[in-house]
Amino acid sequence: MLKELHITTGSRTEFVDITDKIRAVVKESGVKDGLCFVFVPHTTAAVTINESADPDVRKDILDFLNGRVPRDGSYKHIEGNSDAHIKSSALGAGLTVIVKEADLVLGTWQGIYFCEFDGSRERQVLVEVMSR
Ligand code: ZN
Repeated sequence: MLKELHITTGSRTEFVDITDKIRAVVKESGVKDGLCFVFVPHTTAAVTINESADPDVRKDILDFLNGRVPRDGSYKHIEGNSDAHIKSSALGAGLTVIVKEADLVLGTWQGIYFCEFDGSRERQVLVEVMSR
């Protein structure tokens, strides 16, 4: 069951916790055991799994990326958002999570984040849940 989620970001770079939205798609799918694919169909955004307990972790990751890949770096891409493209490829456009007993198998501190690198704007996240 392919589901399309809509995310509205509020900053140029931002991590949005989408764990609950993905979890809801898994429940809705009726799949008990299998795999959940999360895919971002954008070239200036990404999806990643990391700590959801301390919000400073997301901030540190963003600060690291923004510091190493600055917006005003020396790039050739005429659109002026090469930093966002680089960050998107660095983190990746998709990930897979195991589904067990109709729920995501995540570590205690793990959450799923939509990573905005060229906001703010309307974004899509595609979710496919497959049964074993
Ligand atoms: Zn571009």
